[in-house]
Amino acid sequence: MSTEVDAVVIGSGAFGASTAYHLARLGQSVALLDRFALGSQTSPRAAGLTQQIRAKPDMTRIAMLSVEKIRRFAEETGQPLVYHEGGSTKMARTAEDAAQIRAEVAAGQELGLAIDHIDEADLARLAPYARPVGVEAMWFTASDLYLQPAQLPIGYARAAQALGAATRPFAPVTAIERRNGSVIGVVAGGERIHAPVVVDAAGAWARLVAAEAGLRIAIQPVRHQLMVTAPIPGVADGQAICRVIDVNVYVRPDGGGLLLGGYEPDPLAVSPGDLPVGFQVADLPLDPGVVGRLAESVAEIFPAIPAAPVRELRGGLPTMTADDRPLVGPVPGLDGFYAITGCCVGGLSASPGLGQLLAEQIVHGTPSLPLDGLAVDRFGPELDDDGAVRAAGLWAYSHHYAVAG
Ligand SMILES: Cc1cc2nc3c(=O)[nH]c(=O)nc-3n(C[C@H](O)[C@H](O)[C@H](O)COP(=O)(O)OP(=O)(O)OC[C@H]3O[C@@H](n4cnc5c(N)ncnc54)[C@H](O)[C@@H]3O)c2cc1C
Repeated sequence: MSTEVDAVVIGSGAFGASTAYHLARLGQSVALLDRFALGSQTSPRAAGLTQQIRAKPDMTRIAMLSVEKIRRFAEETGQPLVYHEGGSTKMARTAEDAAQIRAEVAAGQELGLAIDHIDEADLARLAPYARPVGVEAMWFTASDLYLQPAQLPIGYARAAQALGAATRPFAPVTAIERRNGSVIGVVAGGERIHAPVVVDAAGAWARLVAAEAGLRIAIQPVRHQLMVTAPIPGVADGQAICRVIDVNVYVRPDGGGLLLGGYEPDPLAVSPGDLPVGFQVADLPLDPGVVGRLAESVAEIFPAIPAAPVRELRGGLPTMTADDRPLVGPVPGLDGFYAITGCCVGGLSASPGLGQLLAEQIVHGTPSLPLDGLAVDRFGPELDDDGAVRAAGLWAYSHHYAVAG
């Protein structure tokens, strides 16, 4: 590999691989580095859902761009990506949540998103595995989809490679080299790579990588888990995704069974700096009790789940921010150093758009959709303290569907 490139990307998950691919497409020479196998950490463990309506128009537009890019992923990158276009629904069981449903329908329609209210008969057709017991209001977004999570980061990494990018698994970045306030490269796997641009896309480790450069990024890794049941009669891929706001639970078909995950009220915060040397996401201890309790909380709506045998339990370490929105852009304090992190458990589906926009910002100075609202330094001094970042991140996690960042 050349020891001099235009840009080094640290981390080959969805965020890093997408950024590397889009930089390569803009003519940059790129090195995509990972401390483990390419695309092997949190990204392949995701549920793979998209939800285009968000609390603010900037993220809704980025999510809409991302869905468009997922649909033409194979055409754009030449790599396979399996996805199912059954749409998604969100359910409100309280008056407050019903007001959120109405507000999201209005906001989405204003941005040209095909989102609308549905009733019980619609739900029976779109998601026959669900019963709207106790549900006061629901919306449906026809263009939401779910995808095969492992294919996305590896697809972008291979597509970047096809455009000339060097990909280097098992090459942990151990130093960020600086001169006169600018980044000048990294040391990875004992080798020095010179670059005027370095992108921190290190997922749960992104704060440690930034700290190596003397910088601070306000994110908190949190364990997030899901389970997949054995096949259930009548369940088929292509049926709609369902979400229940008050308990922050999502359900979708998966290979004839149902996949259920969610945002528990008492999540586990993880500090990668405290983990054993060589720890990777596969070593993360999982707790079936968490998903079991989430399943019980929606048992009236998804009655087949509690009785069905569990085929798979998986989990990973997404990174939370105080406002439930990602951090994307230059990191103040070191010219040429950028971050794409704070995925807030939505990074897989947003990575096509965010990676493209960050690459445009790096190469052209201005992205084709604004990233200002995701600026890395948008938080005030109240989040200068790691304890405050943890508390705010955990709050955002356990209120995810209400915050809808
Ligand atoms: C159970 C579960 C369900 C989810 N469901 C969804 C969903 O439905 N929709 C959605 O959009 N998102 C979902 N997510 C979130 C999604 O998985 C994340 O947003 C996304 O994977 C974040 O990607 P990433 O690139 O930041 O992290 P990762 O995939 O973890 O990639 C980071 C990479 O950086 C590498 N790295 C770290 N340190 C270094 C270093 N020093 N040198 C070199 N490399 C380094 C790591 O090895 C790793 O490969 C879910 C997550 C989980 C766990």
